[in-house]
Amino acid sequence: MAVAGVLLLAVWSLLWAILRNPHRAAILTTMVFLSIFMYGIVLDALRRNNVILAIVGIENYPYIFWTLALAVTGMLFWKAGPAVTKKMTVFGGLVLVAAAVPIALRHDGPKSSNTGRGNSPFFQAPKVEAKNKPDVYFIVLDGHGREDSLKKYIQTDTSSFTADLQAMGFRVLPKSNSTYCQTELSISAALNGLPLDQLIPAFNPQSTDRFILRQMIDQSGSAAFLNRMGYSVAAIDSGYYGVSFKHADVRNTRITGLSNFETLLAGLTPFHNLSLVRNSERRAYIQNALRNLTDITSRSGHPSFVMCHILCPHPDFVFSASGEDTKLRVADELADGNTYFAVGGTPESYRAGYSGQVKYIDDQIRNALRAIINASHGNVVIFLVGDHGSKLYMDNDDIHNTDPRECFANLCAIYGPDELKNAYKDDSTLVNLLPIGFNTLFGTSFPTYPDRSYYSTWELPYVFTDVTNKLNSTAPVPSVPPAYKPK
Ligand SMILES: [Zn+2]
Repeated sequence: MAVAGVLLLAVWSLLWAILRNPHRAAILTTMVFLSIFMYGIVLDALRRNNVILAIVGIENYPYIFWTLALAVTGMLFWKAGPAVTKKMTVFGGLVLVAAAVPIALRHDGPKSSNTGRGNSPFFQAPKVEAKNKPDVYFIVLDGHGREDSLKKYIQTDTSSFTADLQAMGFRVLPKSNSTYCQTELSISAALNGLPLDQLIPAFNPQSTDRFILRQMIDQSGSAAFLNRMGYSVAAIDSGYYGVSFKHADVRNTRITGLSNFETLLAGLTPFHNLSLVRNSERRAYIQNALRNLTDITSRSGHPSFVMCHILCPHPDFVFSASGEDTKLRVADELADGNTYFAVGGTPESYRAGYSGQVKYIDDQIRNALRAIINASHGNVVIFLVGDHGSKLYMDNDDIHNTDPRECFANLCAIYGPDELKNAYKDDSTLVNLLPIGFNTLFGTSFPTYPDRSYYSTWELPYVFTDVTNKLNSTAPVPSVPPAYKPK
């Protein structure tokens, strides 16, 4: 906001100097800022409403439409004279609101009324003395599905990746499922080892508060537990605002490129399609994460708990199999499920994009894992997971249009001593990963939970539908993915 305020003053002063008229300068400043920061919101609203688009027919001419609309409005104000210009202070305020509203809505969401860190049993555990304290990695490849599911729904073959992981000593669970089908829900439950209805204090299914999930990811029970044991907590962020580890002891994030937040701001402006903006952020974050993953522990003399979130192979598809920039970009880099079809994606571009990107990330992560295992001489524990599967057949608003066999089928691979790898069932779910892991490695007795999976919509993330019984259904894959329906 401070930056917006300074920019506003700077532009106004400049225009005042040029026009030698403070009122007209104020009008022009307002138009400039409104046109820049309201652009994304207006276009987004239009895109999501195909009826208006069809009538106005501006989809292909957004810049022309926007410039004309602003020019006409500006002319009207200009001609209206001093009576209107006196009200420009109000407009100045509006400009700031215009910049603040989308940031508040899309970046932070509503602030949580719960300030606690959740009810994770990891917080209550007494300090454990362990002879062997290997580095522990919790690596999330966002949206990485299970081999059999990817073959069936995306028609892509990741069997060589599974085979390579196994050759390295990983156990790859053949029937693993995620507990939830949305990133923040899935990761907060996993890092705290507890289903959300028990983890969130005063759980209310009608709540729409995601902020508490972000808090519980940032200050998780697992990080607190290992920290108490003498571990240093290291984290690698993806740039996604929902998963951020601000409280880690060592935090190795991007080196180059725009952050997710900066991209969000840029996305509101007419400049969002500039290759500088679109190319730099996601690709740089992913490449930096891979680079940082192999050397983040060497900075501390303590054992490390490394949490790493990589926004890949999740859409938008920015890497081809060989790492080239794809031509498959859509208008919203985070849209998945049927929302992907609302921003320009097609089932064909999803299959092609996902197939290329999963191949790319598999090749890259394989090299990073080899380096980590070599550097530790094998004394390391690695949990490599997808927070959910691919989502070609997922409707973000309707369970009845969703095939849960795809979106819950996540990658789950475990590296460590045999007793750790053998402690899991073939169909273990994500919420039990760390409780079982800590119990086996450190002799704790954290509770585990029935392996069940719960769908919820984007609008009401805590109204859960138990889909466990549908996950082993032999029904055929639906003939077409669910279309996006404007609300
Ligand atoms: Zn995700």
